[in-house]
Amino acid sequence: MAKKQFKAESKRLLNLMINSIYTHREIFLRELISNASDAIDKIYYKALTDESIAFDRNEYYIKITPDQEKRTLIVSDTGIGMSKEELDDNLGVIAKSGSLTFKEENEVQDGFDIIGQFGVGFYSAFMVSDEVTVISKAFGSDEAYKWNSKGADGYKIEPWEKESCGTDIILKIKENSEDENYDQYLEEYRLKSIVKKYSDFIRYPIKMDLTGRRLKEGSEDEYEDYIEEQTINSMVPIWKKNKNEITPEDYESFYTEKHYGFDKPIKHIHISTEGAVSYNAILFIPEKTPYDFYTKEYEKGLELYSNGVLIMNKCADLLPDFFSFVKGMVDSEDLSLNISREMLQHDRQLKIIAKNIKNRIKTELTNILQEDRERYEEFYESFGRQLKYGIYEDYGMNKDILQDLLLFYSSKEQKMVTLDEYVSRMPEDQKYIYYAAGESIDRIDKMPQTELVTDKGYEILYFTDDVDEFAIRFLMSYKDKEFKSVSSGDLGIEPAADTDDSTDQEQDKELFEYMKNILAGKVKDVRASKRLKHHPVCLANEGELTIEMEKILNALPNDHKIKADKVLEINSSHEVFKSLQDAYENDKDKLNLYTNLLYNQALLIEGLTIDDPLEFTNNICSIMK
Ligand code: ADP
Repeated sequence: MAKKQFKAESKRLLNLMINSIYTHREIFLRELISNASDAIDKIYYKALTDESIAFDRNEYYIKITPDQEKRTLIVSDTGIGMSKEELDDNLGVIAKSGSLTFKEENEVQDGFDIIGQFGVGFYSAFMVSDEVTVISKAFGSDEAYKWNSKGADGYKIEPWEKESCGTDIILKIKENSEDENYDQYLEEYRLKSIVKKYSDFIRYPIKMDLTGRRLKEGSEDEYEDYIEEQTINSMVPIWKKNKNEITPEDYESFYTEKHYGFDKPIKHIHISTEGAVSYNAILFIPEKTPYDFYTKEYEKGLELYSNGVLIMNKCADLLPDFFSFVKGMVDSEDLSLNISREMLQHDRQLKIIAKNIKNRIKTELTNILQEDRERYEEFYESFGRQLKYGIYEDYGMNKDILQDLLLFYSSKEQKMVTLDEYVSRMPEDQKYIYYAAGESIDRIDKMPQTELVTDKGYEILYFTDDVDEFAIRFLMSYKDKEFKSVSSGDLGIEPAADTDDSTDQEQDKELFEYMKNILAGKVKDVRASKRLKHHPVCLANEGELTIEMEKILNALPNDHKIKADKVLEINSSHEVFKSLQDAYENDKDKLNLYTNLLYNQALLIEGLTIDDPLEFTNNICSIMK
């Protein structure tokens, strides 16, 4: 039979793994055991839900068999097995979700990242073996098949004999090399300790024939070796253990073993409740954003078990969208095994669990915020945007849950602050919570619009995420204080008295009216600025849609361009203003030129594009003559 090629991307990933910088080669065993356990989960579930299948719990186990002479290590399971097509599909392709592209873009340093993130579990076998053979018989089928591969150059599938359904994975262990002792993966004691370390909580027995020594029968001083099959793992799932028997490391290995993520979670939450609904849950707040988190591909959800049997991999109904980053599992005796996806949505028990979980996550996040600010800021860096999307997407419905979890950069503190911190130090005369929106802290630092507010000594929150202003729209106010953009028309700050001169103002009005006509269709108004101190000009905003929102919305793929209502504000105490007054009196062409220049400058300051850059530069040149 002809050899089949791995899909191109698998081949590259495989090479990378084999020659990997990877140091913890021992985890290949965890990966194979975890696959075996999943395969048993599947058949166990079938047996429990289909009465026609005879079922004996003792028949479900994983067995590990090393053979030092043949240099083989066999990992067998009595799980669901794979058909010929499944062998081809499942073991011929790795990167089902574009993982390799991701890898190349992000230069993964450590092979572990790839394994944890993308579940290339099976391929880790090649880290310790020259050749891998998989013999499998699918549940309900009469045929068995053998899949065999020596690594990157391809694989073969052929019919084979196997008595009962399940899978045997046969690894031909590599010869020792300079940098790795491969013999260890054939040693009973070592294998046993790897299983203990990574797979102790697997819920099916992991068996091994272990050699013991005993006194020979009838003798008092003669010993003999004997072999006895033993179960190595303790099998009690971690969530059913007593909390005080579980160490933080146990939770961490559970997180890794379950492939929840490849980072170290910021926090684990272990819930065990009895009452209206009894359930156990272990939840994790991850530290790093999964590579696909802010994309459509990301699927939220918790694993759902019914009394120890996995019934759903990602139960989305257990997590609100704004906490979609939470990983973990829920096990409840009160859920029926046969429950369908549609029915789950209406399940009362599930709703209660989901509500409890939501509240608990909120409480835990609040605790971290109060007790370990640094850690919270790390969390916020990864998932803060999701909280803000939460406020936005449900039109502010969940603002009570979310608003105290928000952080924004503060002009005054030059670090992230909560809304409560902001409001609690507001001076008595300050009416609003001021914010400035822009693409970066640096950029906002230089915004002319902030001058008056800063001058008053008021704190400004910096909105640098595209979602910020949209979210705040739904928040509207915090502790009865409204949010106010520094670019908005009325800042609610009285200008200093000395700027007032009514006769001049009358004349200026005519000038501004004239300028407004020059800029017809571009700005709604031209007026003297109350907010500018040192800068000659800026744009302000009228109406609901802000300039920052205009930028964000127009950056989205969308034929229809959106325009915020802009006002050109001129600093009437700036020297430039005198030139404008002068031009108005004596030279209207000049006024035309200056007006366009100032308008374009204001656009540039805002980070907006100008309509005709060439005209703009020519205009600048013309005043240099
Ligand atoms: P993952 O387990 O993350 O999906 P793997 O590369 O480890 O990735 O496995 C690919 C697929 O091959 C699995 O999803 C499963 O369908 C199948 N598979 C692997 N090992 C076994 C096994 N022992 N029994 C049945 N199916 C298996």
